[in-house]
Amino acid sequence: METTLRGVGVSHGVVTGTVRQMGTAVLEPPDRRIPAEDAPREQGRARQAADAVAADLNARGTLAGGEAQAVLEAQALMAQDPELLADVERRIAVGHAAERAVFDAFAGYRALLEQAGEYLAGRVADLDDVRDRILARLLGVPMPGLPDSDEPYVLLARDLAPADTALLDPALVLGFVTEQGGPTSHSAILARALGVPAVVALPGATEVAEGTVVAVDGGTGEVFLDPSPRTRTELGRRSAVREAALTTASGPGVTADGHRVPLLANIGGPADVPGAVAAGAEGVGLFRTEFLFLDDSKQAPSDERQVEAYRQVFEAFPAGRVVVRVLDAGADKPLDFLTPADEPNPALGVRGLRALLDHPDVLRTQLRALASAAVGLPVHLEVMAPMVADRADAKAFAEACREAGLRAKFGAMVEIPSAALRARSILQEVEFLSLGTNDLAQYTFAADRQVGALARLQDPWQPALLDLIAAAADAANAEGKSCGVCGEAAADPLLACVLTGLGVTSLSMGAASLPYVRAELAGHTLAKCWQAADAARAADTAEAARAAARTALSGADDPVRTAAARG
Ligand code: PEP
Ligand code: MG
Repeated sequence: METTLRGVGVSHGVVTGTVRQMGTAVLEPPDRRIPAEDAPREQGRARQAADAVAADLNARGTLAGGEAQAVLEAQALMAQDPELLADVERRIAVGHAAERAVFDAFAGYRALLEQAGEYLAGRVADLDDVRDRILARLLGVPMPGLPDSDEPYVLLARDLAPADTALLDPALVLGFVTEQGGPTSHSAILARALGVPAVVALPGATEVAEGTVVAVDGGTGEVFLDPSPRTRTELGRRSAVREAALTTASGPGVTADGHRVPLLANIGGPADVPGAVAAGAEGVGLFRTEFLFLDDSKQAPSDERQVEAYRQVFEAFPAGRVVVRVLDAGADKPLDFLTPADEPNPALGVRGLRALLDHPDVLRTQLRALASAAVGLPVHLEVMAPMVADRADAKAFAEACREAGLRAKFGAMVEIPSAALRARSILQEVEFLSLGTNDLAQYTFAADRQVGALARLQDPWQPALLDLIAAAADAANAEGKSCGVCGEAAADPLLACVLTGLGVTSLSMGAASLPYVRAELAGHTLAKCWQAADAARAADTAEAARAAARTALSGADDPVRTAAARG
């Protein structure tokens, strides 16, 4: 029978598929004791599990080829190491159950590897992975990490770290649903980049059984378990409406009366560029450079690797603007070489620009790599710093840019309320502002963006957030400088009109949202956007702001407001 669950839709689209749960870390098994006569059977179970894991790793190695094959085959050898297996059997013979014997035998090996010098110590993670795979088989629980599947599936998980999400294969993952994570969490952002429907903050997501058929509507946040034929038909209709929106809107961002609002794309690396170009992005409004380096958080990215990635992006937008954000590490995007590991509250700690100012060498390397990558290309390069708190931060960043010989515009992200309140002072040091509304909401409402239960407070329609956006936009306007939005707020078509009315000068979003925003903007005059902005700011709740803006946009132009604003 059909059951409907409701979370927060974060990535448009509808999809139906079979559930695969993300495996969580395998916990230490209890020390279950077995009678002596059960020992041969337990030893057989342990051997079979180890053999199956080795066979699986070898098969995946053959599929992957290249360097990955060598790594997976080395892991298969670990699973079948004769000494390790003999140790497991000895432990079972003295009365331990197979899973505990495996856990303890691997612990002994682990200690040896750790003491055997830097190279072998680096293999500890591989050994742990083999152990967890054998334990998962013995305990009958899903394998840790992403499911091994050749068939497409809908992924359900407690939460996804950005590093997991970056590994998702859009050909296999039809969509995903998480129990945790707010609408502005990085897993939601990466889902949008993948272009698959996604729902976050869905209570009970991890309890849905493997193999259940689910239909996910990433726009409304609805998840239907065992959808009825009627629901499937309705979802098919919604999907057709979406396709129609995608194909009808094209060209640059402009209101119905010709006010230009450049529509730019948020990207995490060169892989996102084709999607951005196909969706008609006029440039890049946020290049999250740290996403390039989350696969190896141990060492700073080399100069060559950076130059190559940046150049690929610059070449794709020869006449367009490309706004690059320098590494924004910390909180849910830790990079071991940059951010402290032991902070009590990393979202309020040494993250973003703060971490870079503590590691001037890393900042210098990145700025120089950007300068080299731009050589000889006509790209309009703009470089901005995340988490700027005040004028001193902005000054330090601008000086670092100048010292690195960067020929670009330098800017500051407005993600901390202090920066919005004192935007004019920050603009004495930099040439543009970009509103990071995800963090700005997190810090304005003291509501961690990772926590699904606080989704209400992370709603970008919150009037207090709109007030801060207006303060920053007014300051930029007074200084004759630009002020874009690159947080998820820009991806909501209705809110995009309100942001335009508040005075923001460009909107940047995941490519999948561009057609929707373009179409909505084209349907309203600038005067209507002003009215919608006024109406939203006059409301007391996010819901009321949304409703007031919708009413204002669908009503007639207010001649008094129009004349006053123009005058
Ligand atoms: C933001 O905070 O709004 C932003 C654009 O940066 P990120 O989401 O990467 O923190
Ligand atoms: Mg941010």
